[in-house]
Amino acid sequence: MIIPVNRYLHLVQSKQVSFPYCVCVLIEGPERVLIDSGCSPEIAAELRGKGLDIVINTHFHWDHTRENENLGPVQVWCHSLDAPAIRSADNFMGRYGFKDFGAEDMGQMFLKYHGISDRPVHRELKDGEVLDLGKVSLRVIHTPGHTPGHSVLFDEYNGILLSGDIDLTAWGPWYLHICSDLDDYISSIEKCMDLKPRLVISGHKGIVEHNLEVRFLAYRDCILRKEEQILANLDQPRSLKELGALRMFYGAQNQYDDYIQFWEQQGVYLHLQRLKKHGLIKEEEKLYFRI
Ligand SMILES: [Zn+2]
Repeated sequence: MIIPVNRYLHLVQSKQVSFPYCVCVLIEGPERVLIDSGCSPEIAAELRGKGLDIVINTHFHWDHTRENENLGPVQVWCHSLDAPAIRSADNFMGRYGFKDFGAEDMGQMFLKYHGISDRPVHRELKDGEVLDLGKVSLRVIHTPGHTPGHSVLFDEYNGILLSGDIDLTAWGPWYLHICSDLDDYISSIEKCMDLKPRLVISGHKGIVEHNLEVRFLAYRDCILRKEEQILANLDQPRSLKELGALRMFYGAQNQYDDYIQFWEQQGVYLHLQRLKKHGLIKEEEKLYFRI
């Protein structure tokens, strides 16, 4: 479904907007530009039929880049720090931690299941540059944390922020792979809030326009609450595996399969790295405890 937001900007919403799909945005002007390509194959075919010139990926994740190759002869643009993970499936796998966590077989299965392969990026974006798209200009704002090159796009004139995976969902920020960075994620959420957008279009929630400051703060605080939960469980030394089994992210209602276990442990791992960096915990013989 393609829904107009204003004369130039349209919401591209598939039936499912959670992984492996997302909410995309179509910008009509002298060139037709799609922000993220995580739409359904049917919508991708419709967009291809109408003709597209450029796809801008807010970051490298599959649910934001999946239809890049099915949109006709488009130019693909992405921040320079995430471009390598679109160009190289091997780089993609490394960023998900499959290599560092000894799970290369699982990584290969993940790539195969989703059909992820090496793909082109034609232009690398930089923080602060303004993309003149004819009827609308978008400022590229580098907002790392979710991924190293994650970027939001801000239509400053209309106060519309295309926020990618600073997505303001109730689930909270997703950072369950080793290329995430919690301090960066927190700063990036605050950076988005400080832009004081009038309206946000997020990658998994679509339009959000009320109580934005409160929502950004609540979203940021999801990270801090999980950290408190981990600290509370470190009253005695615990291993990464034990902490992962708390299932702080996907909850007990989901089956604790190999992938969920893998994501949970990496999320906890990132928190542990941050807590160590801030001098709140120590690690000895692969056990973590409060100082
Ligand atoms: Zn993402």
